[in-house]
Amino acid sequence: MSAASALQAARDAGIGLHVDGVDLVLEASAPPSAAILDSLARHKADLIILLQPGNNGWSDEDWRALYDERVGIAEFDGGLPRPEAEALAFEFCVVEWLNRTFERSPAESCLACGGGDRAHDALLPHGVDPTGHVWLHSRCWPSWQAGRRVDAVIALKAMGIEDRSKGT
Ligand SMILES: [Zn+2]
Repeated sequence: MSAASALQAARDAGIGLHVDGVDLVLEASAPPSAAILDSLARHKADLIILLQPGNNGWSDEDWRALYDERVGIAEFDGGLPRPEAEALAFEFCVVEWLNRTFERSPAESCLACGGGDRAHDALLPHGVDPTGHVWLHSRCWPSWQAGRRVDAVIALKAMGIEDRSKGT
């Protein structure tokens, strides 16, 4: 049994889990079975990693839950075939990741090329309040944005979320 399936088994049994420092905290209305306690104990180190919030404020588990939820919404509420539902859910996660890891940069120079504000090549703010803005030349924005997207895809892939429709 993997750490992820141990977690799923515990949740199916109505047990809530979260990480407090280096400890795994269980919340259950009834005492968990010995089998569940045993599998949680065996995977404790992996479970702590799985449930630990990352620097974007969400744990890997939170991201997978978001993905699964969006697949479900697109498939069952939206009536899309599974591959399209997965592709849509993946895009949703990319946008959420970009929003949650949004960068800010000072208005005096371009975040991509480091150049300043020029009459023929003005620096423009990208992003929305309250996350703040990054300042970029409009010609620098597409490659910066593409790079951010690659970061998002890599980060999501590391959490087990992939756009399977594109075979990546
Ligand atoms: Zn620039």
